[in-house]
Amino acid sequence: MRRKLVYPYSESLLDYEFNKDHPLKPERLKLTYSLSKQLGLIDKVELLEPKIATREDLELFHSPDFVDAVERAGTTLNPEYKYGLGTPDNPVFPMIYETGERYVGATLDAMKRIIEGASNAFCISGGLHHAHRNAASGFCIFNDIAIAINYLKKKKGDNVRCLYFDFDAHHGDGVQNAFYRDKNVLTISIHQTGKTLFPGTGFVYETGGAEGTGYAVNIPVIPGAGTPELIKTFDEIVVPLFNAYRPDLLVTQLGVDGHFMDPLAHLAYTSHGYEYVVRGLRKLAADNCKLGWLAVGGGGYHPVNVARLWTLFLAVMLDEKIPMNIPDEFKEMCATMSFERCPGTMRDEDEIVQMYFSREEVELDLERTLRRLKELVFPYHGL
Ligand SMILES: [Zn+2]
Repeated sequence: MRRKLVYPYSESLLDYEFNKDHPLKPERLKLTYSLSKQLGLIDKVELLEPKIATREDLELFHSPDFVDAVERAGTTLNPEYKYGLGTPDNPVFPMIYETGERYVGATLDAMKRIIEGASNAFCISGGLHHAHRNAASGFCIFNDIAIAINYLKKKKGDNVRCLYFDFDAHHGDGVQNAFYRDKNVLTISIHQTGKTLFPGTGFVYETGGAEGTGYAVNIPVIPGAGTPELIKTFDEIVVPLFNAYRPDLLVTQLGVDGHFMDPLAHLAYTSHGYEYVVRGLRKLAADNCKLGWLAVGGGGYHPVNVARLWTLFLAVMLDEKIPMNIPDEFKEMCATMSFERCPGTMRDEDEIVQMYFSREEVELDLERTLRRLKELVFPYHGL
């Protein structure tokens, strides 16, 4: 019998809330869990109550000084800007240390289950890809992804190979930097160009350093890039690199702030593009990865839409069918919260949405980017 997909979730994760006006809303997790449950998907998973990560776990990636600073921030509420704490993006709040630890614990528990033999996991609270060794950044306190990969290395040795793929609208800078000189972690990030969006990095020429050269891959796209660009990048870059690299484990950051309805970024992805990619990842992981696939969440600032997309991703990961329409029970739940309108269907009605630039301009820009990327990176992979 196939082992169940591991899904860490508990209401205690909802305490990670900077303040009521902050765009990172814990309700997105609650709504995702609720919608997935209403569609019967939670009955098919192994639901885990996430444990709290230990200090030793945090120090698998973060410096002791930074961990101390986060712990102090929770009790003194004193912002320490040099650690990225107390900025408009990362305001300090009383539970900052405990909830940060709990978020890491959720992703780490998923990784531990994979090491024990589960073949895939989806940790919706994870994906804090901007956190650096020595600083919080972009709503991210502790980098659960870098910690989980380092935990895997500690257990399985440095030669275990991970492919990290990140389609969040923002560059996965924290994870890229964590493994920039490491050829055993191939990072691939497609994101809105750093010329127009935080964190301002992730250019094609960032290809890794020392023996990791060729193992950091960046596909910056211009505002308005959408489903055709996501699919083309997946087919032309991710698939060949995946098949050449044959990782032991796939790690994916599935932030959905690149969706056209998202209020923070300026991309035009639709559920069609996301679904194509998540289906493709499922096949690649099944064909190549002996350890399996660890998926985490990430960005997404329209809570209802996040719930819809992450539920769709869970259905794809489980290979389950879902109804066309969003259940009334879920719509009623959304109506009691003051969020934007709830779409009526699980998948977007339009496949292609045009924003900011013409289709021709977006296509031409991507052509140029992919050509340059292939010149710079493919030779390191025998392609
Ligand atoms: Zn993001």
